[in-house]
Amino acid sequence: MQWETVIGLEIHVQLATATKIFSGASTRFGAPANSQACAIDLAMPGTLPVLNSQAVDFALMFGLAIDADIPEVSVFERKNYFYPDLPKGYQTTQLEKPIVGAGRVTIETPNGDNKVVRIHHAHLEEDAGKSLHEGNFSSQHSAIDLNRAGTPLIEIVTEPDLSNAIEAVTFAKKLHALVTSLGICDGRMAEGSLRFDVNVSVRPRGSETLGTRTETKNLNSFKFMEEAIIREVDRQIDVLEDGGKIVQETRLYNGDTKIARSMRSKEEANDYRYFACPDLLPVLVTEERLQRLRKSLPELPEARTTRLVEQFALSQQDAQILANDIDLTSYFESVAKQCDNPQAAANWITGELIGRLNSEDLELDNSPIDAGQLGILIQRISDQTISGKMAKQVFDSIWSGAGEVDQIIRQRGLQQVSDSGALEQMVTDVLSKNPAMVDDYLATEENRRKKKLGGFMGQIMQASRGQANPQQVNQILLQKLASMIEASGE
Ligand code: ADP
Ligand code: MG
Repeated sequence: MQWETVIGLEIHVQLATATKIFSGASTRFGAPANSQACAIDLAMPGTLPVLNSQAVDFALMFGLAIDADIPEVSVFERKNYFYPDLPKGYQTTQLEKPIVGAGRVTIETPNGDNKVVRIHHAHLEEDAGKSLHEGNFSSQHSAIDLNRAGTPLIEIVTEPDLSNAIEAVTFAKKLHALVTSLGICDGRMAEGSLRFDVNVSVRPRGSETLGTRTETKNLNSFKFMEEAIIREVDRQIDVLEDGGKIVQETRLYNGDTKIARSMRSKEEANDYRYFACPDLLPVLVTEERLQRLRKSLPELPEARTTRLVEQFALSQQDAQILANDIDLTSYFESVAKQCDNPQAAANWITGELIGRLNSEDLELDNSPIDAGQLGILIQRISDQTISGKMAKQVFDSIWSGAGEVDQIIRQRGLQQVSDSGALEQMVTDVLSKNPAMVDDYLATEENRRKKKLGGFMGQIMQASRGQANPQQVNQILLQKLASMIEASGE
């Protein structure tokens, strides 16, 4: 039997407002526990919520960016349940009338096609606090940190339009690029700013009806998300092929231990006894407000990709990698200012720099090489002060804090030798030391001689300790060999 995977995502995006959705308490990450929870967040009797209009604007900006229907009226509802990190006994959220209606996000699939992922809706809600479980077997305790309680979220719900883990991750990355470009979320996944729930089902290939799904909650890295989907698809296929049934349930995936397990079987939505929150007025969205926000929308990743291709003549692929991250785009633009080869700048950033940052688990903010230095380094290749190979050495040295580009080149004498007299001497030396190689070259048919050049080049570069200008050496070498061919009377 051939199986087909169906995936829908629910994404919680923490909005980058300074204060909470219904109170003036700070949303800053990492503060001492319970130092940022006010009377409203603690659900003290008699307190009333006041809606943060910045949070509403951010949600609307998201709606505009995904070309969504935006209803005139949206309504906050209470979702009632008991949980220690939810002092009110309900979460204020939206159900029937969300702030953002149906929209769409286009992704590129691995085979290069465009695919539209339909967004069912996005609603505003408050985050809950955090339960902390500390200590060991002899002294264990659990505690509640309510700093996060009341942090504004949008929950984005997709239609089940994704067909495999790669598409899901591509979509997730696109969404990350979108909300960070909009400036409505800081995008720090390790801090929980963007959390993905993946709904996964399988069905026989070609079947019209959806299979029973499971939901794996709170994945906060693209890698874990990919792993969780792949494992869950395998698990479901195994169950079905053994004649079993998929139970609709909520699951957890631990990315560190690679263990997935069932958390609870899915409860019915109406267990929550939703009703419109009597403390909050319906939100009316005027056309003027939408106009103002539409005008304020920053450049979005797709537009940025196009601009980078047009303005800097970058390849589409490089432009896209840079454009997906607004900070990376600014970094690139600063590098490009310092040098006259934007494509080289893109190559160094997407190759060397990102590779190094990833392997050392560093963010761009903490890059040991700032954009100015990388730009100068690339310019030194362009103006032929150093070779590309030497540039890698200089890159390493700056990375480990050895100083600045020009200083390192000077101190270590890495300048490329472009003095033609010196280069001619090196070429002559190598040719006279290798008569057998020269004879072999001369005896080779013309159209196959090119392959033989590498041997000479290698020796000359070695003789110059890598400092000879390769283009120039190549030219001189060809000239000298040509005149030898002539002299040999061909
Ligand atoms: P609920 O409100 O019970 O969570 P929804 O119908 O709102 O359920 O769906 C939640 C998410 O699950 C959506 O992203 C949707 O696309 C996805 N989904 C629904 N049915 C399936 C299915 N059979 N397989 C995979 N994903 C599904
Ligand atoms: Mg749901």
